[in-house]
Amino acid sequence: AVVVIGSFNVDHVWTVDRLPRPGETLAGRYRSGPGGKGFNQAVAARRAGAGTRFACALGRDPGAELALSLAADEGIEMLALRVDEATGTAGIQVDATGRNRIVIGAGANARLDAAHIGRVADRFEGARVVLAQLETPVDAVMAGFAVARDRGMATILNPAPADAGVPDALWALTDFATPNETEFSMQLKRCCGLEVDADTLAAEPDASLHALCRRLLPAGTVIVTLGAAGVFASRPDAALPDGDPAWLRVAAPRVEAIDTTGAGDAFNGALAAALSLAPGRALEAQLRDAVRFASLSTEKAGAALAMPLRSELRARFAT
Ligand code: ADP
Repeated sequence: AVVVIGSFNVDHVWTVDRLPRPGETLAGRYRSGPGGKGFNQAVAARRAGAGTRFACALGRDPGAELALSLAADEGIEMLALRVDEATGTAGIQVDATGRNRIVIGAGANARLDAAHIGRVADRFEGARVVLAQLETPVDAVMAGFAVARDRGMATILNPAPADAGVPDALWALTDFATPNETEFSMQLKRCCGLEVDADTLAAEPDASLHALCRRLLPAGTVIVTLGAAGVFASRPDAALPDGDPAWLRVAAPRVEAIDTTGAGDAFNGALAAALSLAPGRALEAQLRDAVRFASLSTEKAGAALAMPLRSELRARFAT
């Protein structure tokens, strides 16, 4: 099973012809739905076939009821802290060209803490992987990863959003880091003072990407997601049998992408599921499964509820 530590948001989305200027009122089409990187990743892990437990913080409002009822529908076990604060929200405006403007109200998400993780640590029992992002306080993530290390579970850190700080102590507890290009570039600057252009990363030679990954997480595996180009993965050189390259690329299948929101979340959840379901399998096969899952998620609009079902994956890729 997989334990996901992270955020739940109610997303409020307005589609507009153009983004409003300050002081201006515009009409747009409205929809709302579940989101938050943590919840998106939990749904992805579950739909990719893993037993999934989700440690999060919720208020006592209709947003929290939405989280609980969707989790029940999906078969996700909730390890939720309930607080007197609004459940997390995101206000999203998207224009006709796909440009967006987003405001997040962290609300209850900001109240997730190490004490709560301590209280639910027993419920990590039997799980193989802990997966977290940084839309919830870093102390809670650190506490979860410390429990994981204690029990021999693997840890996956998705260092998102890009401007989130990652303390050295958290990197030290991380087995797999999964930045996208922007997050990779921002974290390289933070950790090592390196200036790397996110837009040209995918075109870098493998050996230099590998060297950058080694700087970011010397003792762990770094998997950089590259959108339509798939992923680049880099492992510590010493960990490999003679002759195996320490890096590899997995291409994404060609899909009819209509909405890439949550593609990174799809990848993270599916990777956690793959590592938990068959920990002994070659990394390349695990990455291939996760990339296919993420690519297929872009064919539907939305985030959490756009995650593919296993039946859809099988039908598409005959796995
Ligand atoms: P993020 O959503 O964090 O920016 P990426 O854009 O790197 O993450 O996408 C994560 C994964 O989703 C990719 O590795 C790939 O498998 C899939 N993906 C994203 N965009 C596309 C696309 N246009 N075509 C095919 N696959 C895609």
